[in-house]
Amino acid sequence: MRPFSYTAPATVAEAVDVLAASGPGTKILAGGTTLYDLMKLDIEAPTAVVDVHRLTELAAIDTTGPGEFSFGAAARMADVADDPVLRRDFPALAESLAKAASQQLRNMATVGGNLLQRTRCGYFRGGPAFPCNKREPGSGCAAFGGLDRGHAIFGGSDTCVATYPGDWAVALRAFDAVVDVIGPRGERTVAIADLHVEPGDTPQREHTLAGDELIVRIRVPVTSAGRGSTYHKIRDRESYAFALVSVAAGVAFDDQGAVEDCRIALGGVATLPWRCPAAEMVLTGERLTEESALRAGEAAFAGARPGAHNVFKIELGVRTVADALRIAGERAVR
Ligand SMILES: Cc1cc2nc3c(=O)[nH]c(=O)nc-3n(C[C@H](O)[C@H](O)[C@H](O)COP(=O)(O)OP(=O)(O)OC[C@H]3O[C@@H](n4cnc5c(N)ncnc54)[C@H](O)[C@@H]3O)c2cc1C
Repeated sequence: MRPFSYTAPATVAEAVDVLAASGPGTKILAGGTTLYDLMKLDIEAPTAVVDVHRLTELAAIDTTGPGEFSFGAAARMADVADDPVLRRDFPALAESLAKAASQQLRNMATVGGNLLQRTRCGYFRGGPAFPCNKREPGSGCAAFGGLDRGHAIFGGSDTCVATYPGDWAVALRAFDAVVDVIGPRGERTVAIADLHVEPGDTPQREHTLAGDELIVRIRVPVTSAGRGSTYHKIRDRESYAFALVSVAAGVAFDDQGAVEDCRIALGGVATLPWRCPAAEMVLTGERLTEESALRAGEAAFAGARPGAHNVFKIELGVRTVADALRIAGERAVR
């Protein structure tokens, strides 16, 4: 084991002071369900760990609205998934957490840590036997010419096609969430759309936060499309597994029964949570039918760039979008 220092600040202000005084090898620790894994695999090797798991200031869940819901970064996934108001008024958000990981993990893991989890690509986690540009920049990518069944068909580059694995961020992306962060240089708000980045030629960089920036809370605007929403996740087994394809969908109808607001974002198929504006436009102003939902699905997957073993994600994805829209439509207030 590599030695590292451990600090558990008592307040957010103290955490910011500790982060300000810490060096570049510092990592924030929340539930530890990903960070400890990656340390054991020698992918993460922090010199200092700042534990924010028990900061009650970061644990608040506010679904009283009316304009937005707010989730402290250290709120447990299980507590957010079980919030009765969220389950009723924003099922896509609650389901994205309820269908992620296992109950034991959700009891420990936080909604802030969930956003910054790293890819589950087997070559990334598989150790030095495999080249991986994300783990060791410039070493190559074993997914090219290797097994790429689980890999991305959107947002990849010549250096990396690893998928973003999380579910929560996909639902947040569909509904324009923002993330409040604090650090030694002050506070700022980052749109979820600007949090994760495509690999380009720097696949080791996955998000736009600095190492000394702490996620404080996640805020989501409350919309009618949130009420008529779902998180539809297709995986190899139902008990718990990462998505092969997932769809966060939401719809709201106008007085005439046409779709006036449509939200579609994809998980399991892209290098980051993937919003589908062209597919949303297909439905906006139209009736939601089996045929129009399939057209939206086809628009969502137009331009996909599959590899050798993941072309199946296109057909699966088109149908998953259509199914998700049907479920969302049944839940929407008419
Ligand atoms: C077997 C297994 C199955 C899983 N299946 C799924 C799944 O199906 N879907 C899914 O979405 N996830 C899945 N996960 C991932 C799991 O949800 C994450 O491990 C968890 O959400 C991470 O939260 P944490 O609080 O434990 O984060 P930690 O492990 O403590 O931290 C994760 C990362 O976030 C950073 N971080 C944490 N909190 C903050 C903060 N407040 N500010 C800034 N940075 C922060 C840490 O520095 C670290 O880089 C699975 C995990 C396992 C082990």
